[in-house]
Amino acid sequence: MTEAEIVPGLEQARAFAAAKHGLFIGGQWVEPLAGERFATRDPATGAVLAKAARGLTEDVDAAVAAARKAMDNPAWTEMKPSVRALLLFRLADALEAHADEFAALECLDNGKPFRDARFFDVPYAVELLRYNAGWATKLNGESIALSGPGTWHAYTLKEPVGVVAQIVPWNAPLAMAVAKVAPALAAGCAVILKPAEETPMTALRLAHLIAEAGFPEGVFNLVTGFGEQAGAALTAHPGVDKVTFTGSTEVGRMIIKAATGNFKRVTLELGGKTPVIVMPDADVAKATEGAARSIFANAGQICNAGSRLFVHERHFEQVVEGVAKVAEATKIGPGFAADTQMGPVISAQQRDRIEGYIKGGVAAGATLRASGGDLPGEGYFVKPTVLTGTSADMAVRREEIFGPVLCAMSFGDADLEKIAADANATDYGLGAVIWTNDLSAAHRLAKKLKAGTVRVNGGGLDPALPFGGFKQSGWGRENGREGIDAYLETKSVAMALL
Ligand code: NAP
Ligand code: MG
Repeated sequence: MTEAEIVPGLEQARAFAAAKHGLFIGGQWVEPLAGERFATRDPATGAVLAKAARGLTEDVDAAVAAARKAMDNPAWTEMKPSVRALLLFRLADALEAHADEFAALECLDNGKPFRDARFFDVPYAVELLRYNAGWATKLNGESIALSGPGTWHAYTLKEPVGVVAQIVPWNAPLAMAVAKVAPALAAGCAVILKPAEETPMTALRLAHLIAEAGFPEGVFNLVTGFGEQAGAALTAHPGVDKVTFTGSTEVGRMIIKAATGNFKRVTLELGGKTPVIVMPDADVAKATEGAARSIFANAGQICNAGSRLFVHERHFEQVVEGVAKVAEATKIGPGFAADTQMGPVISAQQRDRIEGYIKGGVAAGATLRASGGDLPGEGYFVKPTVLTGTSADMAVRREEIFGPVLCAMSFGDADLEKIAADANATDYGLGAVIWTNDLSAAHRLAKKLKAGTVRVNGGGLDPALPFGGFKQSGWGRENGREGIDAYLETKSVAMALL
């Protein structure tokens, strides 16, 4: 079987990648003002895949001006909510119709298995568009009864926050971009999207579909480039009303500082160190499979990856052995190979960083229980790894590795308080997973865990379920009603009835 037979959409994806890419500003494809471009690589080979335009401060100025103009254009600001919804539904249909091409493009640019992109990332992005399209017609304020002297007619209006800069990472480039663009457009904002420098391709392709869907010019703008240039210029820009960011906690901190100039609203989706807790009564086979999936999916490059596994001592050996077996049996290879289960990580730098954590953990006394699978010769591949015998002060236990590296710990017949305290012993608070059949324990523990999302016995992402972090995992929520509220301001109107 040829690659093209295994991967529908590959030819279009390669042709798109090879084309000349500009910036999308004010409804036009334009040249970057300084005329510079940068390379994006295929992580499975390290070869240059495409060149994207390098947006600098002046390009950001132009994009912000275009977005501001869109927020003054009645074609957008006075557009009926049902028409905004229609445009988003249209975009969802177009994305769905091009699912193979988008999945192939994501596989080329990010390295993830084609199947994962085709059956998770792209359909999830389509669902995000449809879910948020539904909100466009339901963004109502409320009428309020006032108690002061006089007679009043008082109500609230929900208005778009304005021009929004959206900065996204490379681990799920299309899904992350759409998770931001869809609610912002449903709310009536104007957007400037800055994809990660490693993975600009699907955002570029998406811009073409947005242009075809019929949004007024300047409502959606795309500036590819580097974080410290285009990203920093956007977050400091006085013409930007809000920044929504997904990425590292470190850059999140820089964004908060940069946003103070004009008190931009800020939503941050940052890192995680998600605990997976296997209780004594859990379905051990399902918990084992779930624990392995949680850390090895997307080669561990998921903010909510279950990177700390806490197992009751009764099942510890069995679960660790089971996860280690999965690690060792994992077929590692390029995303386009039909039998690949785990693709490369995003870059040589990330590979070296992850390997550094594993070596550092072992040097500090951890035991390597599994370091699985054969690695292909070229590309940025890392072995799925299980460590036991770590201590709470080790970097592998404390820091987000963003790779397929699991630290497994056992606990005795401790009370829920102690289990929660161990799970909560991290600066992060993005997610937590509990495996149990004890309903009371599940709900009691869910309440004690300091995490934005607690899942019991499995589960995944859903556009309707708020997602975000406690503690240093971020500010605010994406998805659900709260996700769209993040793009709205509340205006109170009070009229004295004379
Ligand atoms: P990153 O370095 O923080 O980069 C994320 C984005 O920010 C990229 O577009 C980057 O541009 C840009 N950026 C970098 N420096 C900037 C600056 N000074 N000002 C403005 N923008 C800047 O993160 P990453 O390494 O790409 O992604 C991995 C991290 O993202 C992990 O920590 C992971 O946990 C987190 N993440 C969180 C979630 C969530 O929902 N909570 C989801 C996915 C990932 P460049 O690409 O040019 O550097
Ligand atoms: Mg790339």
